[in-house]
Amino acid sequence: MNLDLTPQQQQFAAEVRQWLEENVPATPLPSMDTEAGFAAHREWEATLADGRWSVVSWPEQYGGRDADLVEWVLFEEEYYRAGAPTRVAQNGISLLAPILFQHGTPQQQERYLRSMTDGSLIWAQAWSEPGAGSDLAAIRSTARRDDARGGWVLNGQKIWSSRAVWADRGFGLFRSDPEAQRHRGLTYYLFPLDAEGITVRPIAQLDGTTGFAEIFFDDVFVPDEDVLGAPGDGWRVAMSTAGNERGLSLRAPGRFLAAAQRLLDLHDARPDVREVDAVVDAWIGAEAYRLFTWQTVSAVQQGHEVGAEGSINKVFWSELDLQIHESALRLLGADAELRGAGAVDDGRWAEDYLFSLAGPIYAGTNEVQRNIIAERILGLPRGADGRRA
Ligand SMILES: Cc1cc2nc3c(=O)[nH]c(=O)nc-3n(C[C@H](O)[C@H](O)[C@H](O)COP(=O)(O)OP(=O)(O)OC[C@H]3O[C@@H](n4cnc5c(N)ncnc54)[C@H](O)[C@@H]3O)c2cc1C
Repeated sequence: MNLDLTPQQQQFAAEVRQWLEENVPATPLPSMDTEAGFAAHREWEATLADGRWSVVSWPEQYGGRDADLVEWVLFEEEYYRAGAPTRVAQNGISLLAPILFQHGTPQQQERYLRSMTDGSLIWAQAWSEPGAGSDLAAIRSTARRDDARGGWVLNGQKIWSSRAVWADRGFGLFRSDPEAQRHRGLTYYLFPLDAEGITVRPIAQLDGTTGFAEIFFDDVFVPDEDVLGAPGDGWRVAMSTAGNERGLSLRAPGRFLAAAQRLLDLHDARPDVREVDAVVDAWIGAEAYRLFTWQTVSAVQQGHEVGAEGSINKVFWSELDLQIHESALRLLGADAELRGAGAVDDGRWAEDYLFSLAGPIYAGTNEVQRNIIAERILGLPRGADGRRA
């Protein structure tokens, strides 16, 4: 693997850097788990789209730049280095779009892809249910065929849907064939969150913001044109997005490099001998993750598919993120409690720390990832309780 960039790649990175220098808001946007913050982040999506930096790896036809994997990682590195806002459109762009490209009809692609690149339609992921998180195939929300109207009728409940309180549309799995085995008989639907029969109920978080919602479906009609993939094929369709979430797409190394650099700056500002090891470990972890990502990029370019090793990646980045933020909180001491004016980094460390606590849970819990690593990579026997990865 050669880590030297070509002149074109250097030029690409320089162009990204310059645009970000000119456009990243000088003051951080309010949390996107608040109404005002959500709106501000939506506006940022439009700014990104204006500069054609919203979806660099997409075809030009849909507002992208046809960037390859190397350019995409370079973009992400620059994005995080510049301290640019978190992407409020990421559910659509990172989770839904790849399957729209793969399984969507031309009409669905036309209708939905462009509108998610500039924040005009923001999507919520409606997969989890009270009894189906890690064991997603256990979902019980139903879809009933309605031939007369040419569509389906949804009933049931979803939970932990990020920012569904303010999002425009949702995508999710429903059991369309109650007789079929667990993974079969599921269908993937797209629906507006203000459809008749849908109730979105906010869930308050530890800090009082409502970054999550429960979604209740009471005889919600979805026309056939909003079925994604074939009826009954929802599991296969959904798994093409799960791979994305756990693998390369959401957790570009730039994010951890930037956090490790901020931790180092924090340490320089408040030198603390006891934290030196933790700061160095965080730095090494972020560098190791960067190199591992480049190795994966190189392997993918040579035709390798990211399989179960995506689980190693997931466990590593989530634990690294936690370690960086715990270390920062120890350095800050009581100051970590402060928010708003006078707080270090506007209180961002505490906010990011709370989010880092969720890393080992979302995108597949780390316990389940470890089962996958044990069984599929190490060839260890299934756990004594018979639970499957
Ligand atoms: C920040 C965040 C954002 C999220 N956003 C969304 C979203 O937008 N849309 C959405 O649909 N969902 C979302 N989720 C939900 C997330 O996908 C689920 O929380 C996750 O799948 C775990 O499911 P669960 O909470 O039902 O826990 P459970 O599946 O009930 O697990 C509870 C515990 O048991 C462990 N466990 C379960 N099965 C096994 C096993 N076989 N072996 C060993 N241990 C096991 C788990 O690891 C966990 O520690 C989000 C969650 C978080 C934290």
